[in-house]
Amino acid sequence: MRKPLIAANWKMYHTPTSGAAMLRQLVPLAQDAEAEIVVCTPATHLAAAAAAVAGSNIRLGAENMHWETEGAFTGEISAPMLLDLSVSHVILGHSERRAYCGETNEQVSRKGAAAVRAGLIPILCVGETEEQRTQGRAMTVIEQQLAGSLAFWSGEEEIIIAYEPIWAIGTGLTATADDAETTISQIRQWLRHRYGERATEIRLLYGGSVKPQSIGGLMAKPNIDGALVGGASLQAESFSQIIHY
Ligand code: PEP
Repeated sequence: MRKPLIAANWKMYHTPTSGAAMLRQLVPLAQDAEAEIVVCTPATHLAAAAAAVAGSNIRLGAENMHWETEGAFTGEISAPMLLDLSVSHVILGHSERRAYCGETNEQVSRKGAAAVRAGLIPILCVGETEEQRTQGRAMTVIEQQLAGSLAFWSGEEEIIIAYEPIWAIGTGLTATADDAETTISQIRQWLRHRYGERATEIRLLYGGSVKPQSIGGLMAKPNIDGALVGGASLQAESFSQIIHY
């Protein structure tokens, strides 16, 4: 059985102070949730966030990391640094990093290798643009992203994959639950082909304008194990409604 997982991606929102205040509000609201909860924040917020969620059922994630453990990489953050802040998960290959920071599948795979080596759980993001979708190339693109970004993966370590159609991120357009299920079940088939029955244990999330009104329909689908939530994860009230889908 795959335990449902709801992950927040705060992107470049909140300050360490406002983020910690939101998490202090969320802790009592989340305590009876059946889903696993991971809140991914900017690196600057993690220390205050760790203090705010200490002793609760909320786990913390980062939004990116470097593949080296240390070195002359100004502005970068390594897996050991995240572990020291009680972080358990890290988002890798988010479409915004692929588009604005030129992150490649090869880099995502190197980061994934460093993450699992350190004991962090990567949340690997894949997804097609609107143009790729209308050209009928969505699955080809997603399979290329999976093959490249998962080059590091032996099939042993825990990983999470988030399918996030780029046209649905931050736009208010959610893929229908049926469309999301179709693509996510194709992702599971691809994993099964490569990694055998291990594919049935991997949690696959949907991301893209998930809201309290849309989460129920998504979670009812057999292959959708959870959600990666951007905008609606910033306020305790809306995120609480989502984790209690
Ligand atoms: C995201 O940032 O991964 C995301 C899905 O954002 P939103 O929910 O705002 O579309």
